[in-house]
Amino acid sequence: MSVHTLQTAIRDIADFPKPGIIFKDITPILADPILFRESISLLCETVSGTKIDKVVGIDARGFIFAAAVADRLGAGFVPVRKKGKLPWKTRQTAYSLEYGESIVEIHEDAIRPGESVLLVDDLLATGGTAAAAVQLLDELGAKLVGISVLIELSFLHGREKLLDHPVFSILKYP
Ligand code: AMP
Repeated sequence: MSVHTLQTAIRDIADFPKPGIIFKDITPILADPILFRESISLLCETVSGTKIDKVVGIDARGFIFAAAVADRLGAGFVPVRKKGKLPWKTRQTAYSLEYGESIVEIHEDAIRPGESVLLVDDLLATGGTAAAAVQLLDELGAKLVGISVLIELSFLHGREKLLDHPVFSILKYP
């Protein structure tokens, strides 16, 4: 299957959740068993040959991809969640994203120092969300192998916030 087939399944929603934002709706990919499996395969290929201990997913659409990638790679899954959702002791950091501001948290025992970690999200826009997750992972002593996203809005230059780590994207919007 070509990457183009995946791309054509993504639905552009204008002015959601705020005026001026074109929201990339990935639910048609999720609803199609072949497209969903292909998207997971492509995300796994970004780190093929590298042993991954934990796949970290970002709240909320990142969970969908990260959990499936973790299962496929034989790794554990760790959620980075929006403030107030995790029940145990957390580390947190504030950040801004394409359409707002937020705080994300991780359980402080979710990753042991030196564990190999892959960070997964559905979409990289300004990079604020991923950079916040990277900061939490750095604080926990994770060995971050890379950041893999299905969609990269390249025109927002999110990669520039993530210069210390490899960023892999499947579908790029220049
Ligand atoms: P950013 O922090 O600006 O890189 O934003 C990335 C996060 O916000 C990801 O978790 C995405 O799910 C979400 N996001 C930002 N912009 C969009 C968009 N245009 N379409 C869909 N999701 C988006």
